[in-house]
Amino acid sequence: MFINRLTANKIDELNNMIKECKKCRLSETRMNAICGEGNLNAKIMLIAQAPGEKEDREGRMFVGPSGKVLDELLNKAGIKRHEIYMTNLIKCMLPKYRRPKQDEIKACSYYLNEEIKLINPKILAPLGYYATRYIFQKYGILLPSKAEFSKVSGKLCLAKDKKILPLPHPATCLYNPDFKQNLIKSYRKLQVLLEDCKWYPVCPMKKFYEEGKLDKKWIELYCKGDWESCIRYHMEERGEPHPDWMLPDGTLDEKLQKEVKYESYNYL
Ligand code: SF4
Repeated sequence: MFINRLTANKIDELNNMIKECKKCRLSETRMNAICGEGNLNAKIMLIAQAPGEKEDREGRMFVGPSGKVLDELLNKAGIKRHEIYMTNLIKCMLPKYRRPKQDEIKACSYYLNEEIKLINPKILAPLGYYATRYIFQKYGILLPSKAEFSKVSGKLCLAKDKKILPLPHPATCLYNPDFKQNLIKSYRKLQVLLEDCKWYPVCPMKKFYEEGKLDKKWIELYCKGDWESCIRYHMEERGEPHPDWMLPDGTLDEKLQKEVKYESYNYL
């Protein structure tokens, strides 16, 4: 696989800065500042909140109990660790797993921003509330409250050239094993996002988009994004008839309807 040498060198330089960083109080309590790891050509970047105790001791990402859960979730989604890039919002362990403070996020986010710039993944998957809050702020997306995190978790959104898929942190399963099935379902979305919808080549949405009659967001969010959430996709799978002017979220678009009527009139 082609790896851009320049990117690799810049990531090395960045990692050296991270290892030496003393920009905030967390440098006094950490054993190791943890650098991002993974594929420099990755399409997907997972962004966790901060390293845990085992990660702090061993100096690697996701080597502790949540790492085991993450491996299982990725495995079930058909994704290998070496295919993705993983990093943290905060590079040093938070004492007693407390919440990150605003000034710590401010001091540390420079590194994450550089990683996003250098790796340039198509899909950002922030894990848990604080990583999601930071990514939403960075890309100007309306911020959910902590209590509302579940409303955005597992739902794809678009920002500039990125697709953002907030996911629950794997550690959620450690505190509450009942959540596991939900997490498996959410992480499977990562695999969905790597493929286009199989119906795309023959879907009227493609035609409308190519003719400039449909906003690109529908294609990015569904046809080349989370096609598993598309109502048209499921109706197609079940062989149920549905109008050409029905949008992927199931709403009927009057403007497209007029286009279809106009085209069939011209055809006659
Ligand atoms: S609109 Fe739905 S069915 Fe059609 S290509 Fe897009 S995702 Fe697939």
